[in-house]
Amino acid sequence: MKELELTVPPRDARAFVVPAGHFFRIVSVEGSQVGDLNLWNLHDLSERFFSGKTRAFHGTHVSTGSRLWSTLPNLRAMATITQDTLDWYGWDEDGAGVHDVIGTRCDPYTNLLLHGLEYHWCCHSNLKRALAAKLNIPLSEAEPHVHDVLNVFMCTGFTRDTHQYFMKASPVRPGDFIEFFAEMDLLAALSACPGGDCSASHSSDAAPCHPLKVEIHRCPEDSLGGWRPARVNGYSRSHGTERVK
Ligand SMILES: [Zn+2]
Repeated sequence: MKELELTVPPRDARAFVVPAGHFFRIVSVEGSQVGDLNLWNLHDLSERFFSGKTRAFHGTHVSTGSRLWSTLPNLRAMATITQDTLDWYGWDEDGAGVHDVIGTRCDPYTNLLLHGLEYHWCCHSNLKRALAAKLNIPLSEAEPHVHDVLNVFMCTGFTRDTHQYFMKASPVRPGDFIEFFAEMDLLAALSACPGGDCSASHSSDAAPCHPLKVEIHRCPEDSLGGWRPARVNGYSRSHGTERVK
């Protein structure tokens, strides 16, 4: 049952809440478009999506069945990917796949470093503005919470010769979607990357850019069986401090 629908405008971001046990979908509309996704524990922003550990568990790209893990010390599944209409893509002739957890997000600092130019609609900035608006906090307070993303619909890989990260045009088309099951109460933010399909520039207004739709679906009460929200990691957290010498 669809509970909420929102549109992320091109070169901008929106933040939204997904209660535990709900599904959310990111849907391609209008044109080929990449999205940069951040996830937080709704009740504690210090627990957030851990791109590196997700990569270690599931590989460089995620698809149906992969879980998105949270930062230490909680280290638990925040969401599980339950459907992905781009599962068919697999690995192409260049070794590229979709939905990577390699790239970090486009940001104005790197852009200035590499190109000597200021650009204000990078995913980092978009996520920062969206989080600040959602929580009604100053922009400066929101920035440290923005973290390495899941690159939704993005097509990437590593070159065979020098193993460097590359991007190519996303195969996503209107109607495609990726669906997540929320394993805990989530605050999410999604940016419609200024790179559009990310076949060229990331930090300019040059690329055709399109909106993304987010749908939040609630399950019927009796359909989740014995499912319970994810528990925090059970490690004692003593870290050797109780060792007797
Ligand atoms: Zn971006």
